[in-house]
Amino acid sequence: MHTKHTSFGFSTRAIHHGYDPLDHHGALVPPIYLSATFAFPTVEYGAACFAGEASGHFYTRISNPTLALLESRMASLENGEAAVAFSSGMGAIAATFWTLLRPGDEIIVSQTLYGCTFALLHHGLGEFGIKVRHVDLTDLAALQAAFSPATRMVYCETPANPNLRLIDIAAVAELAHQQPNITVVVDNTYCTPYLQRPLELGADVVVHSATKYLSGHGDITAGIAVSNQALAQRIRLQGLKDLTGAVMSPQDAALLMRGLKTLGLRMDRHCSNAQAVAEALQAHPAVQWVTYPGLRSFPQYELANRQMKLPGGMIAFELKGGIETGQRFMNALQLFTRAVSLGDAESLAQHPASMTHSTYTPEQRAQHGISEGLVRLSVGLEDVADLLADIQQALAKCNGANLRPTTTSAYALK
Ligand SMILES: *Cc1c(COP(=O)(O)O)cnc(C)c1O
Repeated sequence: MHTKHTSFGFSTRAIHHGYDPLDHHGALVPPIYLSATFAFPTVEYGAACFAGEASGHFYTRISNPTLALLESRMASLENGEAAVAFSSGMGAIAATFWTLLRPGDEIIVSQTLYGCTFALLHHGLGEFGIKVRHVDLTDLAALQAAFSPATRMVYCETPANPNLRLIDIAAVAELAHQQPNITVVVDNTYCTPYLQRPLELGADVVVHSATKYLSGHGDITAGIAVSNQALAQRIRLQGLKDLTGAVMSPQDAALLMRGLKTLGLRMDRHCSNAQAVAEALQAHPAVQWVTYPGLRSFPQYELANRQMKLPGGMIAFELKGGIETGQRFMNALQLFTRAVSLGDAESLAQHPASMTHSTYTPEQRAQHGISEGLVRLSVGLEDVADLLADIQQALAKCNGANLRPTTTSAYALK
């Protein structure tokens, strides 16, 4: 019944794709196959499985029925052919890198990246002979100039964590594919396929931290890579099976599928709540700058409208007085929780320079557009009036702080 639901809309597929209860004793919710290993009817069949000649599950680090259902659902939602599930977003990213890159290769990456991806590139790949080049991918001439015969991958996040800069995926993919043998990989964690589908725009692989919006409840760590069949098979057999072993647990796959059922509903609410919070911040005199793709003042407002269905649930801003006022504000929050991660029902606030992006040196943060006073909000699903009240009371406690202007915007920093 795996093809039954392919013509349905996004939310219908997020709930039903790939599963028919009547194939499973009528169970409305898919069973969880906890088994690590799977029986072979004959020795010959087992040998054919290992040779890749027979399909069928034989060991959960390679495949498992519960993971396979999740993978087919994620492939459908991203409009790709196949997906591979991982135990974390970093598992998915590392497996994709280790599968597709060799010593001597070059990887072009955008300027601003999630802190651990940055660390993997510089302390992992870099030390194993892969050259990492950061390029401002909003500048297509700079990208063109950065290609070399050794370039094998272009990698970006859009919107970037934490400063929300956007990359025009279609333009970057088009340029990259004029070169031989370049794979374009996009981290779609901030948007989810409900808001943005990079494969439709020309990317080759989409990676996710499913710890965030996809699961949506902050109770698992998980990752996904989605691509065409051939790439997914390589990522599974090399990156997952041999190089990282970062397999997702079937129980986490079940929680992730539960989260996916409400993905569209949740994203709509994340986006409307974040719009209201961003507008409140923008109107407040203590705020130096705020970046949110749904604000008219957002420098890439037109691209956001073109590439994303809605502006997302993440906000970056800085208060006058910079880091000290930002800390005062964060400590005054009562409903927003001071915590890293994002995409949960609970609204979260964190300070990238001292937390998620402390993997960068201060000089690197300045170069990569992450100002020291930047506060990152993940706007949750609570009642918007309560969120606005919390923001207003915390901003009011910044009165009396040194409200001298700081940097002009996250976009002004190069
Ligand atoms: C959290 C995050 C990751 C890493 O995912 P984990 O599930 O924490 O391993 C990668 N990219 C982005 C954009 C993230 O926010």
